[in-house]
Amino acid sequence: MAEMAPIDSILSFSIPAKHCRGRVVRLGPVLDDILGAHDYPPAIRDILAEAVCLTAMLGALLKDEDAQLTLQAQTEAGVINLLACDYKDGALRGYVEFDRERLASQPVEPSLMALFGKGYLAITFDQPAPRGRNQGIVPLEGASLAEAVQNYFFQSEQIPTLIRVAIDESDGKVVAGGLLVQHLPDGEDGRERLHVRLDHPEWEHVEIMGGSVKPTELTEPALPLEEILWRLFSESDEVRLLSGKPCVKGCRCNEDHIRDVIARFPKEDKDDMVDEQGNIAIDCAFCSKTFTITGASLNN
Ligand SMILES: [Zn+2]
Repeated sequence: MAEMAPIDSILSFSIPAKHCRGRVVRLGPVLDDILGAHDYPPAIRDILAEAVCLTAMLGALLKDEDAQLTLQAQTEAGVINLLACDYKDGALRGYVEFDRERLASQPVEPSLMALFGKGYLAITFDQPAPRGRNQGIVPLEGASLAEAVQNYFFQSEQIPTLIRVAIDESDGKVVAGGLLVQHLPDGEDGRERLHVRLDHPEWEHVEIMGGSVKPTELTEPALPLEEILWRLFSESDEVRLLSGKPCVKGCRCNEDHIRDVIARFPKEDKDDMVDEQGNIAIDCAFCSKTFTITGASLNN
């Protein structure tokens, strides 16, 4: 396999002897694209960068290119009202709705609890039939979003999983790196998984090795993703590289698509949406863009 560019890409791998699979990712320019559409304070930039990195790793678990992974964090009374990200075939997007004034009264590096209050994390895998849609919801607890996603796999799926995410903004540009490793005793396409007991000697070894990854290894733009895996695992086990995938910022908000969607609305709904000039304005929260669909193109 050709070496993956060490930035804006995801590498899938397995450790066959330990019945583990994993994903390692590093994102740079794609994050600048996603974050650059908004005027976010540093704490919001960091949490969204972490969320996009997690979304990339979870999305890369999907086999089908028509499948979509959505990660949403919601709260009842948090500084952040909603954080939403999704992944489809290497395309990533995300945004955060938050209360700027309340954020200003928080410390510079607010805790997850301070940002979300009593929150929930929803992870949705949308796959073509026969798999269909599968959503898991867990309380937003722990020190980080990464930890909450790790808990999701334990609680909703009973899959022992290790997740690490690191964010670096030291050069004025944001770089996020992540590692996900999980134990699937029945192999990658897992039939019924029997993880009712949580003692897995072969997993514990991988968990320790994977957990030793340094944040700087995850975010160093020049360090190839393969190299991280060799450093962590290859001394004891064979690591098999499965596939690499570039990541881009992707949104479905082009004007033709929006016009098609609106065209399918019932006439009463369209009448409600039209402004005094006879146009419909649609906002894309992901891109901070407003699309104006003119009246003339709505009448067919
Ligand atoms: Zn958009």
